[in-house]
Amino acid sequence: MFIGHFGVGFGLKCIAPRVSLALLIAATVWADILWTLFLLLGWENARISVGDTRWTPLDFYDYPCSHSLLFLVLWATALALVYRAYRADLAGANAVWIGVVSHWVLDWITHRPDMPLYPNGRRFGLSLWNSIPGTLIVELPLFLAGVWLYARCTRARDRIGRIAFWAYVALLLLLYFGDRFGGPPESMRVFAVAGLLATLAFLAWPWWFDRHREPVAPLDPISEP
Ligand SMILES: [Zn+2]
Repeated sequence: MFIGHFGVGFGLKCIAPRVSLALLIAATVWADILWTLFLLLGWENARISVGDTRWTPLDFYDYPCSHSLLFLVLWATALALVYRAYRADLAGANAVWIGVVSHWVLDWITHRPDMPLYPNGRRFGLSLWNSIPGTLIVELPLFLAGVWLYARCTRARDRIGRIAFWAYVALLLLLYFGDRFGGPPESMRVFAVAGLLATLAFLAWPWWFDRHREPVAPLDPISEP
């Protein structure tokens, strides 16, 4: 899954208005950030295998630390605790946790049975990627629902908050279709470097426009010490 993860990040803003959208999206794509990093380090492996599923030309056969459910729960807990240590915002910490773990659930829907429960453990996947219409029917509404929630729970303070937000949504959609209907990557290394750089850009951007938007509902006072 690709933009579905971004949809979850957008939607989480409604339960965690104090957290930057960039951090919420970083949580939902945390598994893929680690994965591209681990590919470059040689700790995890994937190969190009055109036709394996109808949607993606990649074969994910070895990603125990970035994509197993056990590790994602551990990463989620660690990141939520770090967030909670810096900010007295329990809702925000919960949203970070949910975001990281949601990655496994969403990937489980689209991947072949290659999503491990724990390193070298049983693998699961509903193989939605075998159907292009099926993938679009699930992933597009998920993304759009998240965007809709974000647009309802926040409002633009200025033009950047409005235009940069919608431009971001439009570019994600363009990339989504470009990614699917473009050719396979040159090599896994090129793919990982490009993926990592793109992710950084796609986190800096919402960090920027989210600061030009504000929650529609007044923030609850923080009741914790
Ligand atoms: Zn993933």
